[in-house]
Amino acid sequence: MTVGVLALQGAVEAHLQAFARLGVDAVAVRDRAGIEAVDALVVPGGESTTMSMLLDRFELRAPLAARLAADLPAFGTCAGMILLASDVLDGRPDQRSLGAIDLAVRRNAFGRQVDSFEADLEVTGLDAPFHGVFIRAPVVERVGAGVEVLATVGGAPVLCRAGAVLVSAFHPELTGDDRLHALFCGLAAT
Ligand code: GLN
Repeated sequence: MTVGVLALQGAVEAHLQAFARLGVDAVAVRDRAGIEAVDALVVPGGESTTMSMLLDRFELRAPLAARLAADLPAFGTCAGMILLASDVLDGRPDQRSLGAIDLAVRRNAFGRQVDSFEADLEVTGLDAPFHGVFIRAPVVERVGAGVEVLATVGGAPVLCRAGAVLVSAFHPELTGDDRLHALFCGLAAT
């Protein structure tokens, strides 16, 4: 299996290192051929408005949407969660998301008081807490039917899954704890 990390903008390198530690082939993806070749894709954190604009500029939106519609396993972290969601609140007017998971997310909604925070998360399926790093994170305001909530903070879902699409409001690649990358590889392989 080869996992791609969408490398238009944002926190790409730390994801590649997490897969390397797990012994999973991972490559940065910047073009149509890359999107068509990979078996699974990470959409990293960064700035969703910029990534949305670059998807259009490089004509990658249609090939990526086609692969997601054909059930490409995908892991969206922070801005990546926003890009994979079906509905984005407080987005820029020209920002478009890919609708790979039925969620409504509000950009930067944790960030009104404090831009960033960390929290130990109880995650369904993990036997010890996962340390979540939240950086101008989105808040999930609606969870669609068929979406499983795997972790919450103060009642708000922060880790969700539907089939082989996994999304986190936090940055799991920043702490050296590779359990969510391993979980994603397991979802992608089934
Ligand atoms: N606030 C950013 C956005 O709207 C996401 C921040 C992040 O990925 N750390 O895209």
